[in-house]
Amino acid sequence: MMFVISGPSGCGKSTLAHHVLAALPRLAFSVSHTTRPRREGEEEGKDYYFVGKEEFERMIAESRLAEWAVVHGNHYGTSKRELELRGASDKDVILDIDVQGARQIRERYKKGLFIFILPPSFSQLKVRLVKRGQDAPDVISRRLARARKEIRAYPQFDYIIINETLETAKRELESIIVSERCRLLKRQKSIIPILRSFAEPE
Ligand code: ADP
Ligand code: 5GP
Repeated sequence: MMFVISGPSGCGKSTLAHHVLAALPRLAFSVSHTTRPRREGEEEGKDYYFVGKEEFERMIAESRLAEWAVVHGNHYGTSKRELELRGASDKDVILDIDVQGARQIRERYKKGLFIFILPPSFSQLKVRLVKRGQDAPDVISRRLARARKEIRAYPQFDYIIINETLETAKRELESIIVSERCRLLKRQKSIIPILRSFAEPE
């Protein structure tokens, strides 16, 4: 199962993704490839695989990407290998990707659940991007301009989380994942031994 988290930059995707990865079992983070420079504190292979544009283009040409997009002038993509690797040993995978990537996953894979994160308002989004302190003012302006377009994609998603109070948003994301795991189809394997036990004589 893939839980695809999307929404404008600064809406809280990575905060929420990190929270559920720590709070719930059997979840793995899909580490994307990107051509953007590494930020301070980011680790190769943990936050991203940092690659050059040539390497990224080779991955596209060799059909090694499950999805990819150009976001804020840099290339970002999820490799097919990453999904196989992280999805091994019964784990569900969390993808933190932009709306174009989410659309591609929806078209190509059946196993996705799509979650859109909305900030409480445009002005709050701006405050959070400024407070995060990771981007120069011109970068923040570009991210905000893009956010106006990105939020129009919300109807393509299965769930919407309004990230006003962090605690509520965390609980909502946990609940979405937990409920999805309780679906009848996902429980088949666990149900069989229980049903068998009922068929046995006392
Ligand atoms: P994204 O991954 O979507 O770009 P982040 O998770 O980096 O967004 O969040 C952007 C900033 O907003 C971070 O500094 C984060 O700590 C802060 N933040 C996230 N959610 C909330 C919230 N509900 N209230 C206040 N600040 C928040
Ligand atoms: P950042 O540079 O702030 O880490 O990420 C910028 C944007 O790129 C975010 O919206 C993030 O969700 C998106 N992104 C990160 N990885 C991928 C990916 O593999 N594919 C796509 N399509 N978008 C990604």
